[in-house]
Amino acid sequence: MKRQLDNLGRLVIPAEMRKELNIKPGDELKMTVEGNGIFIAKSGCIFCGRPHAAIYHEGIQLCEFCLDAINEKLPTVTESR
Ligand SMILES: [Zn+2]
Repeated sequence: MKRQLDNLGRLVIPAEMRKELNIKPGDELKMTVEGNGIFIAKSGCIFCGRPHAAIYHEGIQLCEFCLDAINEKLPTVTESR
């Protein structure tokens, strides 16, 4: 899919992509340069959408509440030697 920048450098995110990612007017998007491209992602936790993420990894943001919930579900790792 190709889109053309306007005179002010703006780019329209296609409606079908916005719908798929549940991006609505007023949502904050995070933009980062990756390689020779631009990565755009919804800002906030990928699970609950809380605006303040506790961790960032590979462009993914996770809040402390979802991080805790995931940690509780992970099996405890123990040394078995
Ligand atoms: Zn969350």
